[in-house]
Amino acid sequence: MNLIIHTTTAIGIVLLVADTSKIVVHKKLNNPFLTGLLAFTIGFISHAVLDYLPHCYPVPQTIDGILGIIMIITMVSLTNKKYRLITVLTFMAVLLPDLVDQWPLILNKCFGLNLTPAGQFCPWHWSRFSGSIYNQVSDVSTLNHIIVLLAFGVICRFKWSELKVIFNRKKSLNNSICFSDSF
Ligand SMILES: [Zn+2]
Repeated sequence: MNLIIHTTTAIGIVLLVADTSKIVVHKKLNNPFLTGLLAFTIGFISHAVLDYLPHCYPVPQTIDGILGIIMIITMVSLTNKKYRLITVLTFMAVLLPDLVDQWPLILNKCFGLNLTPAGQFCPWHWSRFSGSIYNQVSDVSTLNHIIVLLAFGVICRFKWSELKVIFNRKKSLNNSICFSDSF
């Protein structure tokens, strides 16, 4: 899917995983690295699932790339520093499959090079498993995009209080949020 869909999904994953009440209950999730690792795993799997679903590319590639990078930089810079590791790991996870498989194409596009792709390592990028639909309109793709965006909206609705804490770098955390102070 478009990069902005993957980055939107990453924000939703951060909100789901960095659930402050769950962190209090499950002491192991008190460690931001473990929580970040969980977010990374979910982010990586989410990329596979989204790419597997039938999808068109409603946002042109260049605009998508620019908007996606702006989204990532903005959200990371807004993130409360106690959640920054989790946020960065989640964005890395949703970017990683495309960076691994498409870095020569990205460099070719950015710098006018002529590198040859080494091959696709992620199965969901293989034509057999990829849900990519090019050069045509697809109702299924539209439906899948709506479902993903609706799910994101629902997560934001129910995690609004976490959202205001996590993506507010000026807000200090109180004792109910049990991340290690050493982070
Ligand atoms: Zn991909």
